[in-house]
Amino acid sequence: MKHFLGKIHLRWCKHCNLPVLDEKCNICKGDTEQVKITPPGDVRPAFPKDIEMINNILREQFDIKEDIFKNKIVLLNKSPGVDFTREIILDGTVFAIWKYDVEKANWSIIPTVEGARKIVNAGGFKKIVGIREDIVPYILERHASVLRPGVAYFSQDIRRGEEVIVVVMEGDTEHFKDIQVIGVGRARMDYREVMERDKGMVVKIRHAEAPREATYLRETGDFNRSIEKMVLANEHVIRRYEREAIGFIRNTVERIKKPVVVAYSGGKDSLTVLLLSLKALRERGIEFDVIFVDTGLELPETLENVEEVERKYNLKIIRIKSQEFWEKLQEYGPPGRDYRWCSKVCKMKPVERFISSRYRDGCLTLVGLRKYESINRSKKPRIWKSWHVKGQIQCAPILHWSAMHVWLYIFKNKAPYNKLYSLGFDRVGCYICPAMDLGEIELLKRYYPELWERWERYLREYAKKNNLDEEWIRSGWRWRYRVKDT
Ligand SMILES: [Zn+2]
Repeated sequence: MKHFLGKIHLRWCKHCNLPVLDEKCNICKGDTEQVKITPPGDVRPAFPKDIEMINNILREQFDIKEDIFKNKIVLLNKSPGVDFTREIILDGTVFAIWKYDVEKANWSIIPTVEGARKIVNAGGFKKIVGIREDIVPYILERHASVLRPGVAYFSQDIRRGEEVIVVVMEGDTEHFKDIQVIGVGRARMDYREVMERDKGMVVKIRHAEAPREATYLRETGDFNRSIEKMVLANEHVIRRYEREAIGFIRNTVERIKKPVVVAYSGGKDSLTVLLLSLKALRERGIEFDVIFVDTGLELPETLENVEEVERKYNLKIIRIKSQEFWEKLQEYGPPGRDYRWCSKVCKMKPVERFISSRYRDGCLTLVGLRKYESINRSKKPRIWKSWHVKGQIQCAPILHWSAMHVWLYIFKNKAPYNKLYSLGFDRVGCYICPAMDLGEIELLKRYYPELWERWERYLREYAKKNNLDEEWIRSGWRWRYRVKDT
């Protein structure tokens, strides 16, 4: 099963305009092409709410008039290590980077050159810098910056530091006949500065390409229709991954000979493990428990999802409740990425108590861990002994799956996934978590202002007592010992 350990490269069927996780497309049987994305490439489909947010930013930033994403599959690739950063993939190539700008405290879109072509075609005419034709070779061949004498047009809305689209124009600035995108970059001057000066750097070019037409591949229909097609194009991949995971579960259960527990969190990964366990074990008459840890910090959608899953699969999910967060908070102070008492108190301890009382000789727990989630997890074995609970053995049936495999499997099985995903959340855990980036906190504030207010009130009181500043309240609380890395 060597290919399960290999790197997963996102591929695209340019004929069907669909992502395919294999060399061949299952619909047209044609070859697929690799999509160049930032590793590790844990890609997921964009939901309509994501698209709505992206379109709002594009309208605000570039004044686009049309929906560039209409009737197409859009994917988002999460870049690890930085605050909210997602590559937006459209028509089989990276369209732009969608990020939360920590300094400016706002969302922004940084288009690729291809993205810029589509933005201009969609009527976007803000943040545009027109250059004289005679300086084009300098930019294309020598990667030169745009200097003041080469500027023929400069949008009034541009401020220093903003992302701009660099174009070559034919005709006078009032009646452009033809506008051709040649690059993207960052403005080094404001509109006023450009008007006042006759030299200096105006735009630092990030990427430049010889002018050409944007690539538009076929439409695949609305979100649901596109998802159906995407599942169909990947049927062979889904079947292969399912067969392998089911075999793994059956073998492990047979070998370990302990009561089986599926740890369900309300998230997509553990939902997939639950679906696989139902197929692997229920059909063979092997019983297993399903547990859900209610940390007391769950969003309502997660609790609803647990009930929905219970109903749909005729299960009785055991709820392990922990209500100690607010109480322990007084004692320990805010949790941090380097001080995660919360997961010990609200998750590990209650599970440990439950397992040691229910299974005398321990148990085999199936978890939704995936190596693509973090570099720390990439070297994990697929079966290991828990170091928290004596006698507990854990295994990860979907360790080698990417988020796309998981989503394909969920869509294929029409499984009830947590509604938080369709609101744009990538994670569905506790609503207070030091692992959150500022973009995620913004999302949470948008949908659950009252929950976030309670937390912020606490942070304010704590800051006052401990002489901490606004920056700590905004973002610094997420580390206890380390100074925030910028
Ligand atoms: Zn195809």
